[in-house]
Amino acid sequence: MDKIKFATVWLAGCSGCHMSFLDLDEWLIELAQFVEVVYSPVGCDLKHYPDNVDVCLVEGGIANEDNLELILQVRRQTKILISFGDCAVTANVPAMRNMLGGAEPVLKRAYLELGDTSPQLPYAPGIVPELLDRVLPVHEVVPVDIYMPGCPPPADRIRATIEPLLHGEMPAMVGRDMIKFG
Ligand code: SF4
Repeated sequence: MDKIKFATVWLAGCSGCHMSFLDLDEWLIELAQFVEVVYSPVGCDLKHYPDNVDVCLVEGGIANEDNLELILQVRRQTKILISFGDCAVTANVPAMRNMLGGAEPVLKRAYLELGDTSPQLPYAPGIVPELLDRVLPVHEVVPVDIYMPGCPPPADRIRATIEPLLHGEMPAMVGRDMIKFG
């Protein structure tokens, strides 16, 4: 049996969705029989998103240039992209900065007005990624195949989303158990 090439990506999120993924506990052992993990911040240390990924869980919104570059690459190289958690689906918590009206006022507030001893704006091109003016949900940047809300999505919902995919079927994202936000 060919294993499904499986990835997870961590963009602008708190990693809580990935922690919930780890709450799958012993089912992760069953999952490992069906998938080859080809990219993820948990359980492997691969630096480059590979070609021909079958399924990818994307946690977080799109907040900076690095997020933007990676999500475009993920979309190009992935068959089924799952918007994983409320930050991916709506931009949620990271998007609270949108109400301040752009990257510049956010940076000034955080690093100059609230700076304690040596206020200065972070500037390290190529090291510190530039903030986008607005934090965006994933679907505003690339097409999404499956939306899995929740902050974080409970482990049961994650399993109910992934399990049908292992058998070549799409999950039914309907009902309170599958599409409740928060
Ligand atoms: S949806 Fe909630 S748990 Fe997931 S990354 Fe966002 S804030 Fe964290």
